[in-house]
Amino acid sequence: MNIHEYQGKELLKENGVRIQEGIIANNATEAVEAAQKLNQTTGTNWWVVKAQIHAGGRGKGGGVKLAKSIEEVKTLTEKIIGMNLITNQTGSEGKIVHKVLIAQDVYYPGNKATSEFYISILLNRTTSRNIIVYSTEGGMDIEEVADKTPQLIFKEEVDPGVGLQPFQARKIAFNLGLSGKAFSEMVSFVTALYSTYEKSDASLVEINPVLKTSDDLILAVDAKINLDDNALFRHPRYQEMRDLLEEDPAEIEASKNNLNFIKLDGNVGCMVNGAGLAMATMDIIKLSGGEPANFLDVGGGANAQTVEAGLKIILNDPNVKTILINIFGGIVRCDRVASGVVEAYKKIGEINIPIIVRLQGTNAEGGKEIIDQSGLKVFSATTLKEAADLVKKLVK
Ligand code: GDP
Ligand code: MN
Repeated sequence: MNIHEYQGKELLKENGVRIQEGIIANNATEAVEAAQKLNQTTGTNWWVVKAQIHAGGRGKGGGVKLAKSIEEVKTLTEKIIGMNLITNQTGSEGKIVHKVLIAQDVYYPGNKATSEFYISILLNRTTSRNIIVYSTEGGMDIEEVADKTPQLIFKEEVDPGVGLQPFQARKIAFNLGLSGKAFSEMVSFVTALYSTYEKSDASLVEINPVLKTSDDLILAVDAKINLDDNALFRHPRYQEMRDLLEEDPAEIEASKNNLNFIKLDGNVGCMVNGAGLAMATMDIIKLSGGEPANFLDVGGGANAQTVEAGLKIILNDPNVKTILINIFGGIVRCDRVASGVVEAYKKIGEINIPIIVRLQGTNAEGGKEIIDQSGLKVFSATTLKEAADLVKKLVK
């Protein structure tokens, strides 16, 4: 699950990470109140208005602006809320901004930025260890740094069994070229950051930039945190951080029905049980000259209800020209799936595109019979080759 910058910063603060203070606002009135409150609590006279969307690159896209007066906080908020923000991470269609974070300006004269760093923590799946990736080149595109000057990116692996060791935090502060107060500030920062990553069951914590102010404080100016969906049951209170406005409507509908669905750009919808078979099916579609319109794993217990939910989601996509249902009957019986398809087809009604159903495994013959005798625009296939040939014929 992705969360917003302001929510990420709340998690960081709870775990002792120093942050650029801010208050979330849904409109200009709230923004003005937030700015006044920040002035009282932090003494700041300048503020940054930051668009809250689930994508980075907001600064370059015009979604992060400095306000030097309360009046400017108001006008900038009015401008940013409602805008369609296009960044290098939103795709060309952009994202509508619904909220802004009003933050204290931490770069203002007298508290001038002296350095911007990059620090992220994620799982290295190859070594089964957590890895801290960090660099002196913060603030800008880290991908570009990795591309052009990879020697400026450092990595520190952490054994999850023993956790981050003090010497590792010191090594990071040292490699970032810090000394004195900034050094010990960075050690505390990294330690608290690692603890946020562990305690929140995050799959990614990325802070870019981490700022060293001229008075040698280290703080998080930005926060990108992804929470591990498989661990969400351990954090019931995180549920309320989910922002459905940021998610694809089809994917929301799918998750309501416990379907693993990812929308793609092609023209052949597919419904499969098992992630591996789903991947193989997508390959087959591509080899037949089609392009998969989605990834959809209905899971172990495919029944009439899941088939119906899956079909509806796929049919909502206007690009879909045909659908391939590829189910292996292991625990689930093929005749049940076939009846499910026929039932769903009749129930949805007005399906104008052909559906190919390939059933293999338990009661496959019974399943095929049900499909063949349905009298609907549903075609059965026994082998994968047959299914592929049908796809080829139908996409043409
Ligand atoms: P991103 O572009 O989506 O990664 O958003 P960030 O939160 O990283 O902000 C983008 C840029 O805005 C940062 O790299 C800073 O240069 C700038 N910025 C953020 N906070 C402040 C601030 O307090 N004062 C000033 N002057 N600039 C800021
Ligand atoms: Mn950033």
